[in-house]
Amino acid sequence: MKTTTRVAVIGGGVVGCSVLYHLTKLGWTDVMLLERSELTSGSTWHAAGGFHTLNGDTNMAALQGYTIRLYRELEEITGMSCGLHHVGGVTLADNQDRFDMLVAERAKHRYMGLETEIVSPEEIAKIAPITNLDGIVGGLFDPLDGHLDPSGTTHAYAKAARMNGAQIELHCKVIETNQRPDGTWDVVTDKGTIHAEHIVNAAGLWAREVGAMAGIYFPLHPMEHQYLVTDDIPEIYERDSEHPHVMDPAGESYLRQEGRGLCIGFYEQPCEPWAVDGTPWDFGHELLNDKLEKVEDSIEFAYNRFPVLGRAGVKSVINGPFTFAPDGNPLVGPVPGMRNYWSACAVMAGFSQGGGVGLTLAQWMVEGEPERDVFAMDCARFGQWITPGYTRPKVIENYQRRFSVTYPNEELPAARPFQTTPMYDIFDQMGAVWGHQFGLEVPNYFAAPGEERYETPSFRRSNAWEATKREVRAVRTSIGINEVHNFGKFRITGAGARDWLDRIMAGRIPQPGRMSLTPMLSPKGRLIGDFTISCLGEDEFQLTASYGAQDFHHRWFLQHSEDGVKIENISNQRTGFQIAGPNAAKLLQSCTRQDVSDMRFMDVRRMTVGMTDCIVQRVSYTGDLGFEIYCDVMSQRSLWHTLWDAGQAFDIKPFGMRAMMSLRLDKFFGSWLREFSPDYTAAETGLDRFISFKKNVDFIGRDAAEIERATPPARKLCAFEVDAEDADVVAYEPIFLDGQVAGFCTSGGYAHWPEKSIAMGFVPWDRAEAGLKAQIEILGQMRDATLITDPLFDADGARMRGAL
Ligand SMILES: Cc1cc2nc3c(=O)[nH]c(=O)nc-3n(C[C@H](O)[C@H](O)[C@H](O)COP(=O)(O)OP(=O)(O)OC[C@H]3O[C@@H](n4cnc5c(N)ncnc54)[C@H](O)[C@@H]3O)c2cc1C
Repeated sequence: MKTTTRVAVIGGGVVGCSVLYHLTKLGWTDVMLLERSELTSGSTWHAAGGFHTLNGDTNMAALQGYTIRLYRELEEITGMSCGLHHVGGVTLADNQDRFDMLVAERAKHRYMGLETEIVSPEEIAKIAPITNLDGIVGGLFDPLDGHLDPSGTTHAYAKAARMNGAQIELHCKVIETNQRPDGTWDVVTDKGTIHAEHIVNAAGLWAREVGAMAGIYFPLHPMEHQYLVTDDIPEIYERDSEHPHVMDPAGESYLRQEGRGLCIGFYEQPCEPWAVDGTPWDFGHELLNDKLEKVEDSIEFAYNRFPVLGRAGVKSVINGPFTFAPDGNPLVGPVPGMRNYWSACAVMAGFSQGGGVGLTLAQWMVEGEPERDVFAMDCARFGQWITPGYTRPKVIENYQRRFSVTYPNEELPAARPFQTTPMYDIFDQMGAVWGHQFGLEVPNYFAAPGEERYETPSFRRSNAWEATKREVRAVRTSIGINEVHNFGKFRITGAGARDWLDRIMAGRIPQPGRMSLTPMLSPKGRLIGDFTISCLGEDEFQLTASYGAQDFHHRWFLQHSEDGVKIENISNQRTGFQIAGPNAAKLLQSCTRQDVSDMRFMDVRRMTVGMTDCIVQRVSYTGDLGFEIYCDVMSQRSLWHTLWDAGQAFDIKPFGMRAMMSLRLDKFFGSWLREFSPDYTAAETGLDRFISFKKNVDFIGRDAAEIERATPPARKLCAFEVDAEDADVVAYEPIFLDGQVAGFCTSGGYAHWPEKSIAMGFVPWDRAEAGLKAQIEILGQMRDATLITDPLFDADGARMRGAL
């Protein structure tokens, strides 16, 4: 066994083998995989081997598409068989909401180039004749669906990696991972110690235990899962061709042909977490006891949906465990707070996602960044707040909802409330209808007395409509207040702070007392942050950005840290409120003895507001006259009482995230992970206007930004007024020009102040002119849309920027 390696991949399941192969494919050949037993000795060997592209997250769907297309390549390279059965699959819809969801998915696929198809019950009868179509509204057919041989596929990855120079060490259990001061690792195994520059944790069922060796908690949990294989069924073996897959979300089941019979698996409601306190090391090539009583209801449902099942005996029952993260997506990427430690765990659909996970991680390690926005599976999407006590109920919820309709406005209830601010009970008494961001309770809107305290999940406009409209009007006509807790906040101090920021950020770094907006770019010029920087003193800065991206940003900052610069994530220590609306300055003045009348737009000052020492900045994401008022978390309630009591003179109203997201549409302000994400560049999104090409600094991403400056990109972010009816754009709806798909939406919604449905999205650069006529597909309906460039409120900026 070799004793030094560039990368030690721990775990020889389908994911570890895919990571190994992709590292070699991208040129890192001094890599090895350590497997405590034989390859496939975790979840992999007993998987049903099904694969599909359908995923609520568009980039995850693209990576699933990549995975499926990779199998032929693997077979060609290795000469081995993955046992591929490209039979196609149909997902059934038994009600209008589920059908709406499939139609919305199909619309996204148009832009992604996936050849899925909405099918009628009559067409389903031809595709999947064993289906009882009672109550079926329609379905979505995906020709890429299929299944494979899990073991053959894993060995094909392994062989392809070996052919490129990788080494695989079987029967080699990792028992310790110890970091040296230079950031490299001693990987201690029962066969000796290996010195590795990087570690990849791909230990699947044991990822928690392997993580704990380095002091890392990975938020994942194994769940038991069962599928049955039937005896021979004449309706199956007498067919000329293999029966396609059928996903029946109402019955929480997936079904496919297995030999001369069928195989059907269930995501049952009475599901069971496995190995709560840790996966036993002696678990391996074995199955769990059958627990058919748990899937009794699902089986009964399936007998009705697929009557042939009722006539067939059960040949075998497979009950095995596999791991889930709280949202069901993998945990991939550099582990925040660690050097040279990478995660490739919690992959619950290894045969749909394993290739994409391997590619993404290899790109990240070899090239410094993945080629697309992979936040949906980035391990930084969960923060330090997460605990096993939170993970378990969330994983159960996710398992139970695997086949549920997912609505764009939905808030999932498990493990909540967990993180709350000092305002929680006050807002709760005021009727807050709560949302959830990065573990934190955040008011979505405030229900009036007598109104329901629950937003109905819907693809169409929801019952939050009236409350949102009320809150928007309160801001635009007088004043509204909400928390700034859900911004990610960093304090950057030290003699080197300004120079460091100048290198990290593409924009201008403000002088003391001033603020600036700036994109943060990756070396390839992709957007990895849109920050507001406030200069509180020559050596002290406050940075604000997305709350949910705080660990993502913190990881980047630490990767680029320098002596003389102190970087603190103060997201939960510094909190406060924003007040916005025409009376915002009057309210602020009534609460402080300091004169605010000369405060310019983008000024920042320290001042005492009521009893509280605050940092006050004149800026507002509502696009209105507004102030963000930051204080220490311990003083937040005092500050609230000051502002709220004084605000009564102006009929102040609280507002939530629904109103905020509506207000920003009036000015076409983009939002993180919608308009601004690593999928896009500054020039594409218009954030290049905040890049300081004048500054004499080689900031990260400068070369790429200069290239785009010389040659405009192919697409441009624009806003559209949409002729919508009862449903607005959410994201990724296709934009048609002259009857052809030419772009896609990034977000949208109803702008309550101008009373217009607005969409934002990309179209070809040379077509992006005011007045351009387009069509946007919303829930299967083509909606006329017109490109607009003049903001719908305060077009000249007089209110937002004007003198007080
Ligand atoms: C019943 C069932 C049906 C399924 N059906 C499907 C399906 O149809 N389609 C699909 O895509 N997915 C399916 N899955 C899920 C799929 O099995 C997993 O997504 C996949 O196997 C995860 O692979 P992995 O490599 O991450 O983990 P694992 O397969 O768990 O591999 C981890 C490996 O790491 C090794 N290891 C752990 N600790 C150490 C250590 N300390 N030192 C050295 N080696 C170590 C283990 O021995 C193991 O081989 C199913 C799962 C089950 C249980």
